[in-house]
Amino acid sequence: MSFDGIQLDQNIDVDVLIIGGGMTGLSTAYHLRDSNLKVALIDSNFILESVTTKSTGKITFLQDILMNIDDDYLDEYVQSEILASNLLEEIINTNNIDCDYMKVKHRLFSNENVYKLEKLYNKLKKYGVVFEDNYIEAVSAVFNPGKYLYGLKECCKGVSIYENTRAYEILKDGENFIVKTSGGDIRCIDVVLATHYISFLKPFFLPMRSYLEKSYLCAVKTDKIKDICGISIDDEVISYRYYKDYYIYLSECKSTSNLNSDESFEKIVKKFDDVSYVWSNKDIMTVDSMPYIGEIIPHVFCGTGYNTWGMTNGTLAGKIISDLILKTKNDYEFLNFNRMINIKNYIRFPMVINNTLASFFKTKVIKPTEKDVFYKVIDGNSVAIYNDGNSVHAVYNKCPHLKCGVVFNKTEQIWECPCHGSKFDIDGNCIEGPSNFDIKYKGSLDDMLKK
Ligand SMILES: Cc1cc2nc3c(=O)[nH]c(=O)nc-3n(C[C@H](O)[C@H](O)[C@H](O)COP(=O)(O)OP(=O)(O)OC[C@H]3O[C@@H](n4cnc5c(N)ncnc54)[C@H](O)[C@@H]3O)c2cc1C
Repeated sequence: MSFDGIQLDQNIDVDVLIIGGGMTGLSTAYHLRDSNLKVALIDSNFILESVTTKSTGKITFLQDILMNIDDDYLDEYVQSEILASNLLEEIINTNNIDCDYMKVKHRLFSNENVYKLEKLYNKLKKYGVVFEDNYIEAVSAVFNPGKYLYGLKECCKGVSIYENTRAYEILKDGENFIVKTSGGDIRCIDVVLATHYISFLKPFFLPMRSYLEKSYLCAVKTDKIKDICGISIDDEVISYRYYKDYYIYLSECKSTSNLNSDESFEKIVKKFDDVSYVWSNKDIMTVDSMPYIGEIIPHVFCGTGYNTWGMTNGTLAGKIISDLILKTKNDYEFLNFNRMINIKNYIRFPMVINNTLASFFKTKVIKPTEKDVFYKVIDGNSVAIYNDGNSVHAVYNKCPHLKCGVVFNKTEQIWECPCHGSKFDIDGNCIEGPSNFDIKYKGSLDDMLKK
């Protein structure tokens, strides 16, 4: 795979601008590629650096979150996920996308809550789900999401795709929008927000209705490859699949307010003799466990809040959003941003807000200082510093999103915001939102060390 991205370097006019080139953005571009609309897609990074590419790449309707979805919506939701799984398979087959797609069985398993599985099985057996000992199972699929995105991008020849081009601001200009980006202004009629965490135009919508869950993953070499994957529904979430000659294992699912990523990595690495790769990934969990897909204000569309099931939901979002733009009828109003949410879903929410406030407090006031990671106030600015033994890396201790402090994750060598999960490289360049800005310390490092 080559990184052949073009960067925007002028002002342009289009009908539709898609911001974000992960599963949601590229799926939307795919359905609009042959329309007579002028469509552009921008991504702040290269297309293959999104949350999508760091997922476990399972495609299934048999999701752990079905446990939390209101009975009133369960059938509609399951049917939407079956449709999305079929659509994904159809896109792969029609376009011969080489992405290691294969059919496997997907299991929801439990050691502590088998009775819950049985209850769910009774609701889902009409969809071909089977129940054995401590698991329920359905035919599903796995693939390599990075290769799939690359294939989708190749299919979208009619769409102007700009990488390394970040959107900073969206302004209304009469009937149109002007999107300010790092490469120039883009005037458009419709905007698709496919940035994973949506902070444009409705900045407080997601903080009030969702939280971020972060998980830690590893890949271990194995010669015992199986055509099964699964996820547990117990308090300690474990998810696994096989890819080529690797066993991929996910555990330690925590809210992003976990300040010590290195400890979580240590825990999963200890479970195996020889781990080849480790990484973390985060997703947006909504109050009622269903995604937000639809039009949020006239001519602005979004797909977000996939509760760790974005392969199907991102695919579905692409179809729904393109139908809305092309004014084609669809039956997915129940996923809209403005749906009524049952009050009982808010019961666990004060705890989530509490966690975010606690992270804010811990990173601003207590500051988790270690010998090689420390904080200083310089010229009135709080600065976070990491000394790797050879050189010193300094960043402003203030996430541009909602001003939380940052902590250092030594395993991945990145700065992270525990409130909403923004990630910055070791020198403060923003690599994942919701922040849209860098936190590079602009003062002199020599002066900083003297002070
Ligand atoms: C550990 C883990 C495992 C998972 N495994 C699975 C799985 O097995 N199956 C499944 O169905 N789902 C899984 N998911 C969920 C899935 O990965 C996500 O829901 C999905 O990838 C989100 O897609 P997206 O398009 O919304 O976001 P992304 O893939 O992150 O795409 C957003 C894009 O927007 C760009 N962007 C952001 N801000 C800007 C800006 N200001 N300007 C321009 N571009 C911008 C980013 O660079 C990025 O490329 C998993 C999630 C986690 C955390």
